[in-house]
Order: sequence, then C-alpha cells, then structure tokens
Amino acid sequence: MLPYGRQSVTEEDVEAVAAVLRGDWLTTGPAVAAFEEELALWTGGVPCVSVTSGTAALHVAYSAAGIGPGDEVVTSPITFVATASTAHLLGARVVFADVEPDTANLDPAAARAAMTSRTRAVTAVDYAGHPAEYDELRAVADAAGAVLVADAAHSIGSAYRGRPVGSLADLTTFSFFPTKTVTTAEGGAVAVPDPARRARAAAFRNHGLVRDPARQREPGHGGWHQEVHEFGLNYRLPDVLCALGVSQLRRLAAFRSRRAALAARYGTLLSGLPGLSLPVRRAHADPAWHLYPVRVHDGRRREVYDRLRAAGIGVQVNYVPAYWHPAFEDLGYRRGMCPGAESYYAEQLSLPLFPGLTEAQQDHVAESLATVLR
Ligand SMILES: *Cc1c(COP(=O)(O)O)cnc(C)c1O
Repeated sequence: MLPYGRQSVTEEDVEAVAAVLRGDWLTTGPAVAAFEEELALWTGGVPCVSVTSGTAALHVAYSAAGIGPGDEVVTSPITFVATASTAHLLGARVVFADVEPDTANLDPAAARAAMTSRTRAVTAVDYAGHPAEYDELRAVADAAGAVLVADAAHSIGSAYRGRPVGSLADLTTFSFFPTKTVTTAEGGAVAVPDPARRARAAAFRNHGLVRDPARQREPGHGGWHQEVHEFGLNYRLPDVLCALGVSQLRRLAAFRSRRAALAARYGTLLSGLPGLSLPVRRAHADPAWHLYPVRVHDGRRREVYDRLRAAGIGVQVNYVPAYWHPAFEDLGYRRGMCPGAESYYAEQLSLPLFPGLTEAQQDHVAESLATVLR
C-alpha cells in the first residue's frame, strides 16, 4: 500500500544515530542541546525544549502556561485529539470553535465568540502545514489575557507574513512522528520565547527537578541533592533520537521544497476534475505542506476512500472532529457544535505526500482518483 506519509531516512541519518550509540550519552547528553539549537534555526531563533512526542509537547506547553482546573482552552476540532485531550488531562475545559472553510484552520471570529472570563489559552492548529491567522488570533488571545498556543505538528518550516512558525505564538509545539515533515521516530518540541515559561517547560519535562542550589529550599544537603517543587514527568527525548533529529533538520529545506513541488504537481494533475476541490493557499502564507488535503464533493468521500484503498493507494482522512470522539461525547459534547468543521470532515481526503513519492506514483494517484470521479 502506498502510504499517505512516510519518513525519509538516509544512510547519513543511520550513521548519526549509530555514532551516538557508540558513545557515552544515550540520553541527557550533548545531542539534546545540539538538536534544540538546530531546531531554533527554524523558529526564528526562539529557543526550544525537546520532548518525547507532539502529545508531550502539548502537555508541557499547557502546563508551562499554568493551565489547570477551572480554566478554558479554546481550540479547533479539525486536529488530532491530543491538541484537546492534553488540556483536559490538566483539568481544563476544552471549548471548540469552528474553522475557516478554505484552510480548515481555527476561525479567529469563532475563537473570539468562544472566549469567556475563564479562557486561559487559545490553541491554533496549522492544519496540513498552512499557518493559521496569527495576527487576528493574537488580538483575540491578548484581549482576554490568554496565551496563544500553536500546535505546529504539521507546519515546521512554514511561514506567516514572512515570520517562521515557532515565532508566532507564546508556545509552539512540534511533532516528529514518522509521517510528519521531520522525524525522530517519536519526538516533539516546544518553542517558547519567554524565559520563565521556558524554564517551567524544561522542568516539567524532567520531573520538576530543581538542581540549582540557589533555587533549592534546603541547599545544604550536599552535591547529590535535588528537589521537586512542582510535579512533572519524564518527557526527555534521548540523545539517540536527537541525533536523528539534527540530521533530519539539515534536510528540512530539501523536504520542504520537495513537498512544495509535489503539491504544485498535484495542483496541475488534478485541476478541473469534477467533484473535487484542492487545498487553498492564502497569499500571505508560505506553507511547508505536511498533508495534501482535497475535498470530495457530492457525498462521495467514503466511496473514493474505499476505492483508492482497494487500489493500493493509502489515502487518509484528517480528522474526525475532535469532539466526536466518545471520550468527549461522554463529557456532553454534542454533534452540530461546529458545522464548518463537520462539513469539512465529511469531504476531506489526504492524498499521499512525502519526499520519497515519485512522479510515477503521483501520476498513478491522480489517474486513479480521476477514474473514480469520472
Ligand atoms: C501528530 C499530531 C499531534 C501529536 O503528535 P505525536 O508526536 O503523534 O504525539 C498533535 N497534533 C497534531 C495536529 C498532530 O498532527
């Protein structure tokens, strides 16, 4: 089955990992800082805290923002469930606001309407790699005294009005799962401009341990002493995976241009097909496409999905609205809440897009799709 996404791993990547395996530090060593520094080259210099997954990154980000019981987090339903579930796990109430019809990104007007005196965070999702409307969302968040979070699991390497993703929000989370644009197998990171918030993020990833005697409550115990002031978890990304990350990030420019070329080629191959809409790029956005999301009209998405799968083309649907998950349904979330998201979901289909996709494979996808639609 041709997958909808897959990693691109070279012998150079393998060598980078093997070198760490032969060395002294499998984890908590120098490759961690090296990876975080390499990542900051893509966030406009905003420092990053590496973690074990995109989900961990969201958990760390909300925790560093002080999200807890009684707080509300406003976000988009067109996302992977982790954008919302991590806020819920911290005790917050998730409030879903509808998406814009073209990009399927959080609609700033809908976000504004969802704000209350309890809103502590607004989380945008750069769906498919297309950045959300950060200037408008910043105004919405600021007016309510909320933090602006960017779930940039799809959008590393994208830019909005000339500014890179990672520099647009108070906390930006990345995922390095194999289908994403850059991979460390499992992995993630949070970009955090504010030093105090960044220190909280780094502490949460490492059990909340305080090693600096100047900050300890009882520094006199001896050199071994470490204290926990606030509980955290072990979300440390090991050196083995950080080494893969450094090697991968050095190819991000190439990944981005290959994905852009394939996306443009899909645009040509699929233009004019009946019953199909192609992804939209807004003039001020420079997306590093993670997905190539088309819309299948006339109620035919299920049929197109099934027939392409049967033909060995691993199309995917991204995503079922997050509040349709039974876990949210059981909390009282009801269908119909975000009609724009629901109609987007009803038509959405992700076509294969990854750097190793050949033009012959892409032609086959386009021809198969055309055969089904005609
Ligand atoms: C992949 C993804 C996540 C979760 O990342 P993991 O690394 O799989 O934990 C969160 N949000 C979005 C939008 C994603 O696509």
